[in-house]
Amino acid sequence: MQQSHDRADPPYTDDRLEEPLAVLNRVYGYNAFRGRQSEVVEQVVSGGDAVVLFPTGAGKSLCFQIPAMCRDGVGIVVSPLIALMRDQVEALRQLGVRAAALNSSLTREEFLDVRAAIDRGELDLLYVTPERIVTPGFREMIGNAKIALFAIDEAHCVSQWGHDFRPEYRELGHLGEAYPGVPRMALTATADPHTRDDIINKLALGSAEVFTTSFDRPNIAYEIVERDQPRQQLLRFLSRHKGSSGIVYCLSRAKVEDTAEWLNKQGIRALAYHAGMAREVRDANQDAFLKEEDLCLVATVAFGMGIDKPNVRYVAHLDLPGSVEAYYQETGRAGRDGLPSDVWMAYGMADVIQRGRMIDGGASGDDIKRVERAKLNALLAICETAGCRRQAILAHFGETHPGNCGSCDTCLKPVETWDGTDAAIKALAAVYRTGERFGTGHLIDVLMGNENEKTSRFGHVDMPVFGAGKDIAAKTWQSVYRQLLAAGLVSVDHEAFGALKLEPEARAVFKREREVRFRKDRPTKGKAPRGSSSRSMAAKSALEDEADIELFEALRAARMTIAKELGVPPYVVFPDTTLVGFATSRPLDREAMLGISGVGQSKLERYGDAFLQVILAHQR
Ligand code: ADP
Ligand code: ZN
Repeated sequence: MQQSHDRADPPYTDDRLEEPLAVLNRVYGYNAFRGRQSEVVEQVVSGGDAVVLFPTGAGKSLCFQIPAMCRDGVGIVVSPLIALMRDQVEALRQLGVRAAALNSSLTREEFLDVRAAIDRGELDLLYVTPERIVTPGFREMIGNAKIALFAIDEAHCVSQWGHDFRPEYRELGHLGEAYPGVPRMALTATADPHTRDDIINKLALGSAEVFTTSFDRPNIAYEIVERDQPRQQLLRFLSRHKGSSGIVYCLSRAKVEDTAEWLNKQGIRALAYHAGMAREVRDANQDAFLKEEDLCLVATVAFGMGIDKPNVRYVAHLDLPGSVEAYYQETGRAGRDGLPSDVWMAYGMADVIQRGRMIDGGASGDDIKRVERAKLNALLAICETAGCRRQAILAHFGETHPGNCGSCDTCLKPVETWDGTDAAIKALAAVYRTGERFGTGHLIDVLMGNENEKTSRFGHVDMPVFGAGKDIAAKTWQSVYRQLLAAGLVSVDHEAFGALKLEPEARAVFKREREVRFRKDRPTKGKAPRGSSSRSMAAKSALEDEADIELFEALRAARMTIAKELGVPPYVVFPDTTLVGFATSRPLDREAMLGISGVGQSKLERYGDAFLQVILAHQR
């Protein structure tokens, strides 16, 4: 792995040419690579290009950080968000890695310091924005310094199909020509094939090796409920997570603010985040979320990309996300540390209408609209499935999962289904007889035989379908229409204000050639799928012994004190998983501490004694 040196040796050569495994051990305190990490590292250390498609939490960062340290020169990381670079750089410095960020917030002196460090070969990693890396100024600054690699993080930003499209990313396709011979990597947690192809094509990575792993997130428990009393439902969900941090996603800015305010009144500490807020407030709220351990962040989808807080314990959706991909990304922000985490969504027909209207009213061309509508329907099918949610989600990404995952609501409490052929025929007949011009509210009035201004005015009271559905509750008809939509038997005509139309497949139902089964909705006040009460600290659930839990809490308090002093998020000091290791293994000297996962040389020097003291004070 020796690299040729075309200039004088930099002053610190100790870790330059170290073996990847030794770096993993010494710097990060981990004893083995996970999954395909070692293959990626091998590929890049030996000078090859790589496209890395691993789910969140799989450990993509190490895949570029370690090669940057094993190869000669500075590793350049393209990262889309300035606000988060600081934390990433700080986390690396805590590990003793020589890292810096180059962005518009630097003073002239700071900029010159970074430049001097690069010149002297004293930097392992440099984080830059995509805008900056393509400027002549950047090229000039790098000068003749040796570049170990380029890592393009959040590479899905290059794709217009994704939800985080950033036009600047397209320029990154020229890096290969501009810096021949420097290995390039693109990394993302986005799984859909379209985005993958875009990454390979637009970033000119046709000859790169592509590394993928399963996109399953086994530590995430999925739950999707029918929206009934959304705030009360949310409150019940949040009550299972007292003392931990999570995200609540809403579609609109107004709803974000209202929800955050309401949660605070209910005694749940919540902050808002959306793109319409003043930048300072938004950044401060993001910072608080990263640094504190019991905060609920209510946000639009503007929040989340690049957030590497490992102990986000829950993600709740109060509105339907835009697609399965978006749902997967947003929920994927939970449980990066691998500890159990819950994701929950409440949705109803109104979401489908609203989302559809957004798609149809948007500026995109017909082809894109058609794709968007198909994406919405795919998500709807996951919401309405009577089978395993995990299986359905993974199937969407082309992955086969045997089902029965044991940690989604439908697996934990199998839904009952009922023969709905008769009901389907009635529901479809109501659509047909009323001329495919009405939404579900009116259709249900017709089925239930509700005489009102509208049903009278249109003469619907005189039709045979009027009142034909009285045997079933109005709420069940809502569910029937959602499922007919998910099954592709009806569609929503957004130009006609959400009217339902029949799809060709509906014929087979009318003719009784096709049987229809519906899932039975659960009573809203049903028990939480986890069954247990508070899962406030998932880490705690890894601890059984009372004394261990007590020690864990003491370690957590010590960590918060250190983090506050340094002004960094607690997980930058040590993640929960390391504190669990301390609490259960109770290392009594520095040597023993090094044996705990997450304790490397640098952190041992910095914090070993502080945590040792806590452990010694809790000697049994
Ligand atoms: P990603 O970027 O893929 O979402 P990260 O790089 O943030 O994931 O890694 C997730 C967590 O797993 C981090 O806390 C990281 O330190 C940890 N991790 C990564 N690789 C390993 C490993 N080989 N052994 C133990 N922990 C690891
Ligand atoms: Zn399941």
